[in-house]
Amino acid sequence: MAVVVGREKDGKRYLGNHQPLISKKLFDQVAEVMDNRNRPKKKKLYFPYRGLLTCNNCGCLLTASRHKIRHVYYYCTNGKHTCEEHKNYFKENYVSQELVKVFDEVVFDEKIIELAYQAKKEKLGRDDEYLAKAQENLNNSLKTITTRKNALLDLFLDGNIAKEIYDEKNKMLNNEEVNLKKELNDLESKKRLNGEETLERIKNIFLFPIIEKKCFLKGENEKQEKVIKTLLWNAQIKNKKIANLHFKEPYNLLAKVEDKSDFLSVRKEGDSNPRGCYTYALSKRAHSTAMRSFHYLKAF
Ligand SMILES: [Zn+2]
Repeated sequence: MAVVVGREKDGKRYLGNHQPLISKKLFDQVAEVMDNRNRPKKKKLYFPYRGLLTCNNCGCLLTASRHKIRHVYYYCTNGKHTCEEHKNYFKENYVSQELVKVFDEVVFDEKIIELAYQAKKEKLGRDDEYLAKAQENLNNSLKTITTRKNALLDLFLDGNIAKEIYDEKNKMLNNEEVNLKKELNDLESKKRLNGEETLERIKNIFLFPIIEKKCFLKGENEKQEKVIKTLLWNAQIKNKKIANLHFKEPYNLLAKVEDKSDFLSVRKEGDSNPRGCYTYALSKRAHSTAMRSFHYLKAF
């Protein structure tokens, strides 16, 4: 059939009598394509935990699909065709509930973090004093060497010592100078590593899971995805329960601290001591765990 090219005349449509340029079939096909193009694209389904959950049984990723508009389920892709777990359909809100447990692994008591931080800061103050003193001593030694080198040169220029002796002594002083300068450089880098900035960063690493847990519990999908993927490489699932967690650095270090309840054994002096000698506010073991954790995290 020829394409009708309408011509309007007196409100009536007349049939065009020239040769069609394209067939109606092609015209319709093109129209359909153009129509689809203008239509807003179907929104891609969003599954916050896809790519994060793996099957503890076979190691395959869990995928997700939506059923009856509202319900999202996660299940083993069963890529190896050997897994029974793929029959376990894990509803998304239960996944969220299960994933809240992730925080138990990395959340420390906020008060303890503050105490450990203060204790570390006190120590930092003492270290700074020590480093400053050491730096002063090294600088004094450097000055002495310069004076000696000048005196040696005077002796030589006045003809009081032979060139060989001058050369030998001067070489010794130069070596000493090089060593002192190296020690000074080492001190500088130690200072930077010990700096308050590092301490703040470590404290923030401890605080991150605490703050984000509150966010997670609000239940906004995008935020849940963001925080959980910041903390975890993956979570292995078995029978709709977390079987294993694989934390990203540096949160893996926080997860490693086995007995976090030990952090809770704060002695009362912590509250009543107005001068805030925080070092003694923690039980000895809690204190050493806190210090160790801060120490580990220095590397990040
Ligand atoms: Zn599986």
